[in-house]
Amino acid sequence: MASKRQIDVGGVLIGGGAPVAVQTMTKTETANLPETMAQVKRVAEAGADIVRLAVPRDEDVEALKIVVKQSPIPIIADIHFNHTLALKALDAGAHCVRINPGNIGGPDKVREVTRKATEVGTPLRIGVNSGSLPKHLAELEKNDPVEALVTAAVEFVDLMEAVDFDNFKVSIKSTNVPNTIAANRLLSERIDFPLHLGITEAGTKWTGSIKSAVGLGTLLADDIGDTIRISLSTFHAEEEVKVGWEILKALKLREKGPVLIACPTCGRLQFDMDSVVAEIEQRLEAYEDPIEVAVLGCAVNGIGEASHADFGITGAKNEGLIFSRGKALRKVPQDQLVDQLFVEIDRYATAKEIAVDASASAEGAEWLAKIEAENAHDLTPERLAAMEAEQAAAESAASPLVDEESSPTAGRRFSRNA
Ligand code: SF4
Repeated sequence: MASKRQIDVGGVLIGGGAPVAVQTMTKTETANLPETMAQVKRVAEAGADIVRLAVPRDEDVEALKIVVKQSPIPIIADIHFNHTLALKALDAGAHCVRINPGNIGGPDKVREVTRKATEVGTPLRIGVNSGSLPKHLAELEKNDPVEALVTAAVEFVDLMEAVDFDNFKVSIKSTNVPNTIAANRLLSERIDFPLHLGITEAGTKWTGSIKSAVGLGTLLADDIGDTIRISLSTFHAEEEVKVGWEILKALKLREKGPVLIACPTCGRLQFDMDSVVAEIEQRLEAYEDPIEVAVLGCAVNGIGEASHADFGITGAKNEGLIFSRGKALRKVPQDQLVDQLFVEIDRYATAKEIAVDASASAEGAEWLAKIEAENAHDLTPERLAAMEAEQAAAESAASPLVDEESSPTAGRRFSRNA
């Protein structure tokens, strides 16, 4: 269930129906100001809405004071358990402070932090991690780790409400993907505060991205989660931002730049698609329009499943075709496919419309029809999928789940088959 409440982290709204915010965390020593600022700028350029900094010492607070003034995006100070540092981070101008109310030193210290947060108008993030649950939940954790996580989070929420503070978001994190999914589902039914989603210590760029896509993607698809952080074992925090965006783009929750569609290739492949796709992916990073760009490894299927793409390429017999929204744009030599594709994309980026030269388009369509005719009987993966879909549709039409005998439409205002 989507959170009802909303908080404002330095101008970025979290929860209450706001777009899901992408955040990351710097990997530098915060007190190393030049390196920290450089990384903050890099993640902002990569599309981070918010960035978190570790603030474990007084020298990091000093750096924080400058970073919050110079950063192009809001800053969250990560404190965890030192309530004095939390107070200092709030004074330093952090746009949000992350604390763990369970190990910050008791309700009095929590009250001190929330009083200061109220005074300066700054939200908090309260976090629960599977590795640091309160001791009284140890037995429950052994028997039911999901319930233990949710109980700890709800206890923290109750503590916040007991000290009259409601300007916060909540995170429940675990290294275990199914537990993270189950715990956030349960928590979203019990509280209406914004939720921060993440998989703790997800792993390398490869495994961490997959775990995060599965865990966070499942929750986001159910409309659970208001901000996400992908935790990857890399010093390039911008990689976390890119993965976060790909998850949101895949779920159509937000748009940012082009979407690349590429066939998986098979024995019919007609050009060096690996390097072509890699080059196109890299060059597309410079564009902002949310266009779809398709790369098909052969022209045997025609434009087929990529017919909705704004731009696409395919090739056969040393030649290639640039197409757009189901229509041929023009035929080009295969070694010019990528450059000519970007001529079309650049033209679109400037004019915001697709230019079609009728005679070049007709020549391209003729070439494509010839390739399709030559390969009309090939059972390509796409044609097999289309045949399976056709067969399934025919079977369901032959024996519908509901028919006139089981549920007559006579006398109703609609006809089932109209
Ligand atoms: S048949 Fe399909 S999967 Fe194989 S190369 Fe052609 S477009 Fe790609």
